[in-house]
Amino acid sequence: MEETFSRSVNDMRSLYKLSAEELKAVENADKAAEELSILEYEHYLKHEFNKEAPGILAKYGLLGIPISKEYGGLGMNPIVSVLVKQRLGQLGLGISSFINVQMFLCAQTIQRWGNTAQKEEHLPRAVKSERVYAFGLTEPEAGSDPASLQTAYEEKSGNYLLNGTKYLISNGTIADHMIVFAHEKGSQKEITAFIVDTKANGISRTELHEKIGLFTSDTGMIEFDDVSVPKENVLGPVGKGMNVAYSALLNARLGVAASCVGVIEGSLRASIERAKSRVQHGKEIGKHQLIQQHISAIKQNLEMAKWPVYFAAFRKAEYEHNHDDKQLMEEVELRVSLAKRIASRLAFESADRAVQIHGGFGYSLISPVGQLFCDSRVARIYEGTDEIQDLKIAESLLGREFAAYK
Ligand SMILES: Cc1cc2nc3c(=O)[nH]c(=O)nc-3n(C[C@H](O)[C@H](O)[C@H](O)COP(=O)(O)OP(=O)(O)OC[C@H]3O[C@@H](n4cnc5c(N)ncnc54)[C@H](O)[C@@H]3O)c2cc1C
Repeated sequence: MEETFSRSVNDMRSLYKLSAEELKAVENADKAAEELSILEYEHYLKHEFNKEAPGILAKYGLLGIPISKEYGGLGMNPIVSVLVKQRLGQLGLGISSFINVQMFLCAQTIQRWGNTAQKEEHLPRAVKSERVYAFGLTEPEAGSDPASLQTAYEEKSGNYLLNGTKYLISNGTIADHMIVFAHEKGSQKEITAFIVDTKANGISRTELHEKIGLFTSDTGMIEFDDVSVPKENVLGPVGKGMNVAYSALLNARLGVAASCVGVIEGSLRASIERAKSRVQHGKEIGKHQLIQQHISAIKQNLEMAKWPVYFAAFRKAEYEHNHDDKQLMEEVELRVSLAKRIASRLAFESADRAVQIHGGFGYSLISPVGQLFCDSRVARIYEGTDEIQDLKIAESLLGREFAAYK
């Protein structure tokens, strides 16, 4: 097992006894990361989706960690998911974004809110990567405030007709199916979730290339023009779409936090190697004290980020068995927001220090730390921005009557 990650797994094992099956899943994440490493690097340089990644992840069972065995998954808890995401985060956030969307935002959401027919139809295929999924909440005019979305549905001839635009959607142009959120035409409040087949008439998709990182992740804009969706494709109760969305975001937010711990590990690993091999002023740069200070800071960041993420995973593991416990839900939301806020900030800072240690070579996409730097910035934006996490954290301390953004 990769050394930095192996230390983290041992840390986790000092608090939680991983079963033989769980340890195998974690070891598989390590194997998948090894197998994916060069491919991810090559696709990154070409600025293209890593098309081999879904198959390799599925081969190691990594797209089904929280999905029950009945539907082909591993039926494991967030503690295992966090370790898996952490290891893959060492490769940057491209693969991590794919897993987040396919597994946490889509499959796990269908598992929680879908009926039996929907679960049978979608979960085994998502786990095997036979189908790619996307999650369409954000719109050009509705980001941090998703409840203001404009995509509308109306009943027509026994089906629903969807009209609107979804923006910045990961897997957007490659997805076979997509969870889409829309409000009832004429009623801003009644938001409902739908599972939409992207082959339906009236859907047009455009890839968004002009990103400043995350080059191996597909990002798209999707327009819906009178798209007919069968009634049986409603996900969860009609009018309860925001509950569906918030539960999905909670899963994915923890996933982002975990992959940020991986970014810090990747930054540390590369920095140590560089510090030992690069010679300037007659000695390895790792012998210069100011380089040691950067390395120490990245290690501190790793410790500061890891524990809030692990703690959030423990609480979320409890919550998975108690979805009706409101107090526990609030506690989990707070823990997950703290984990994401802390880990994403420290990931970006660590990648920045790693670039500094690598000098001019670091300021290029040829260096793995250049890739980590470009990728890690998005973690402070997607699945809820820094500011939104701050408002959530403050609200949990000040009380609901101080909620600043509802
Ligand atoms: C690469 C990428 C992939 C993505 N993938 C997906 C996906 O798969 N599916 C999906 O649905 N979405 C996706 N998103 C969208 C992402 O979730 C949004 O970008 C994010 O929620 C922020 O929304 P916004 O970009 O519209 O920013 P805005 O909401 O316009 O925010 C702009 C700024 O204002 C701040 N702000 C907003 N409201 C408040 C407030 N009340 N108080 C204080 N500050 C505030 C924000 O924090 C931010 O700093 C993706 C985004 C990116 C960049």
